[in-house]
Amino acid sequence: MASLSLKHIFKVYDGKVKAVNDFCMDIEDKEFIVFVGPSGCGKSTTLRMIAGLEEITAGELRIDDEIVNDFEPKDRNIAMVFQNYALYPHMSVYENMAFALRTAHEKKEVIHEKVMEAAAILGITEYLERKPKALSGGQRQRVALGRAIVRNPKVFLLDEPLSNLDAKLRAAMRSEISRLHERLGTTFIYVTHDQVEAMTMGTRIVVMKDGFVQQIDTPVNLYKYPDNVFVAGFIGTPQMNFFDGTVIKEGDDVTFNLDCGASVGMKYVQADKVPVKYMDGNHKVVFGIRPDDVRVKNDTNYDDGSWAPAKAVVSVVEVLGGETLIYANLNLNTPDAEEGAIIIKASPDTIVRRGDVLDIEISRRKFHVFDKETEMSIRKRIPEASYIRANVEDGKLTFEGQAFEMPSAVKCDNATDVETVIPISALTLGAGAGKANVQWVENVEGKNLYFLKVGDLTMFSLEEGEARFKAGDIVDFDIDFTKVGIEALGVAPINLTNTLDGTFTKEKDKSRKFYNFYMNVGTAKLIPTVPACEKIFACKGSKIFRTPLEYIFDASVVTVTPHEEGATDVLTGTVSEIRDYGFVRYATIDTEGQKVVAAYDGAVGDQVDLHVPAESIVIKDKSIDIIIA
Ligand code: ADP
Repeated sequence: MASLSLKHIFKVYDGKVKAVNDFCMDIEDKEFIVFVGPSGCGKSTTLRMIAGLEEITAGELRIDDEIVNDFEPKDRNIAMVFQNYALYPHMSVYENMAFALRTAHEKKEVIHEKVMEAAAILGITEYLERKPKALSGGQRQRVALGRAIVRNPKVFLLDEPLSNLDAKLRAAMRSEISRLHERLGTTFIYVTHDQVEAMTMGTRIVVMKDGFVQQIDTPVNLYKYPDNVFVAGFIGTPQMNFFDGTVIKEGDDVTFNLDCGASVGMKYVQADKVPVKYMDGNHKVVFGIRPDDVRVKNDTNYDDGSWAPAKAVVSVVEVLGGETLIYANLNLNTPDAEEGAIIIKASPDTIVRRGDVLDIEISRRKFHVFDKETEMSIRKRIPEASYIRANVEDGKLTFEGQAFEMPSAVKCDNATDVETVIPISALTLGAGAGKANVQWVENVEGKNLYFLKVGDLTMFSLEEGEARFKAGDIVDFDIDFTKVGIEALGVAPINLTNTLDGTFTKEKDKSRKFYNFYMNVGTAKLIPTVPACEKIFACKGSKIFRTPLEYIFDASVVTVTPHEEGATDVLTGTVSEIRDYGFVRYATIDTEGQKVVAAYDGAVGDQVDLHVPAESIVIKDKSIDIIIA
């Protein structure tokens, strides 16, 4: 039994191939985690770093709260099962399973008991005397599992264990491994390139591509709420249908105009998670719909307005028995073209032929929308922000019949119809100058996502805990202007992440026997924590003294005090700007030729000392752009 924590894990091979980038994840005891992605995406490398078979370039790996970066594989209490089984060919099954226990000098009776128990769990008792070559692939894989089980490890690591088996056996072994996981009650981490395997086995799945984590979520959430085009296309068979196009809002109607010539229309409330800034008929978007969320029109179909009509011409029909897959095209002139191609999952009694023009219906609830350029979802389960068009009139922000006094920090020229971004965390309910009508409240993983009708628009707010309001309520709301952006007027959310260029140095102490280490920013010297020094030296050795670094810390950790002559372990500077937001004032402080932002009540020109707790400073190696402590 074990929990694992991976913090900013990087793997760089030979100083250049970045195989794994900034892998962060907490794994709870008893989880079944699957790493999935195409070949070369960094799955095995990550698994091998957990096993201790590959050195961790940077980052922190904990097992049960203990940092194990420098532990030998044998001291991590982990068992690994490989694709090629790695059995000893000259030993019997029994000997293979007993081997690790023998080398650990276990008592003979204990070994026998453990081997027999594992053999019984795996159903291989009758093969114990055989040599591996006299076993089938499935049986060999069971022996490999058995060899792991007898050691009673805290964590099971499995690297594509089924890929040498035929399809039928693979399916059987899949459920066997799932049952084994349940029975052993141990943390499993499983690597595969097969999304079906991932979906059927994982309690949570990590989708990777090109060394980067794309999304970490449960199988259901990955399927329903993919974060980007890659995850959307990778998870689910047949693949999601994708269409390039644009979207336009006209009054209460929203229309997705697809480049293939078709269009999908709906009411604004059905698409209101898509930021209105995309609904200008101009922005390139990708409309996605799964084959399961398209249906062939049928007079007996119930429709409460959730289905958009369309037409498609049939190209190929695949009768699979339980269901029929129809490969068609939304452009009726080009049944076989790639553009406009759509796969429809239909009931087995649907009779259609090539060339038929079908009336189909596309779900207005389960569609996906991505930004064409970034390929990120723009119909997220939790929208990032409300995007509105607002006016600025004499220090007031007005939109949809609302008016908010703007604090002096964001005072700007008058303007009309400018795009204003109000992040979901910046819209707070219960007090303030705004009034909204709660349309409904969606529970998203224990949080309440409020859909607020404000004039013609839907705006969003997210709260933890018990829902305080319900559909139909009229609520007051406020806006936190520290987070608001109005690009056209130069109003940007305040960046509270401070990043300072610096170096790491050592100096002999007074006794001339020991070294003191410092985080240097210009002439200022900050004292690092002991764990940070350990991590830095583990990662960089003495190269650290020649490495350009970035010291990163949040404004909230900084304490600002009047400057004192001779103060040590501080950054000293001069306040060059004060941004007053009413409830808080932030100062920009010039120090060592760089800038720091921190909450501060004084005035421009003040000489101040900045106290930054060393344990709150993240250290980044600028030369390879990775976090090292
Ligand atoms: P996956 O398991 O997802 O197929 P890997 O973790 O094996 O991917 O590999 C990730 C990347 O690291 C690939 O680009 C691969 O070529 C590279 N790589 C793997 N092992 C080594 C190695 N020992 N030396 C150099 N590059 C490697």
